[in-house]
Amino acid sequence: MELEKVTVSYGKGETATQALAEVSLRAGEGDFIALVGPSGCGKSTILKLVGDLLKATSGNVFVAGREVGAQDVRIGMAFQNPTLLPWLTIRDNVMLPLKIVQPFRADWRQKRKTEYRDRAEALLAKVGLKDFGSKFPWQLSGGMQQRASLCRALIHDPNLLLLDEPFGALDQFTREELWGILQTLWIDTKPTVLLVTHDLRESAFLANRIVVMSARPGRILVDEPVAFARPRT
Ligand code: ADP
Repeated sequence: MELEKVTVSYGKGETATQALAEVSLRAGEGDFIALVGPSGCGKSTILKLVGDLLKATSGNVFVAGREVGAQDVRIGMAFQNPTLLPWLTIRDNVMLPLKIVQPFRADWRQKRKTEYRDRAEALLAKVGLKDFGSKFPWQLSGGMQQRASLCRALIHDPNLLLLDEPFGALDQFTREELWGILQTLWIDTKPTVLLVTHDLRESAFLANRIVVMSARPGRILVDEPVAFARPRT
């Protein structure tokens, strides 16, 4: 994933807000980057650019060596709120990305619905939601919903995982429990991760690099490896 001198302005003329000013950032395969900085410094804007939800005003955004938007790049996302679809069961919510990706992947087009189900159930079991696949989101606690949304972000085996304060709405105990779960899930496939967070302990626990931004307009101040990160096996 690479941003090359990316500038983003929201709006035009006198009322325009410059959210990012010539930001360059590179994440290699298996990098786990924590993106921190004051509110409004452009962290979410970076995730939107990389997730192809927003076009840069100038500069380039590449994912897997190509302009963002290529069909065979799989991106998983999770946000502060679990954003599960209320009319689908937990299992169907988790399976959703597979259905969306299916037309673009020859190897998955042949798969039957039962294979999708098995994959979803296996992932749910890993995060401690073995018996909750048939329930609806409102029947689960916030922390459980957030686990399910992590499963949904990972089910299609993404190359890139974009997490925008995924644990921000949770109490400290649940949050720390989910750090361990995210780390376990991450170790399976080691996607490149951009994690927006305000929690420095979370950054140190999960990330191998911390990128600190400043606001008005958004710039990168610091980009350093986390020397004290726990060894990963
Ligand atoms: P962060 O995620 O670090 O809080 P954002 O990327 O959300 O920062 O926002 C960066 C700047 O861009 C802020 O000044 C914000 O007000 C502005 N901004 C974000 N989204 C929009 C939008 N859709 N329209 C206008 N301004 C926006």
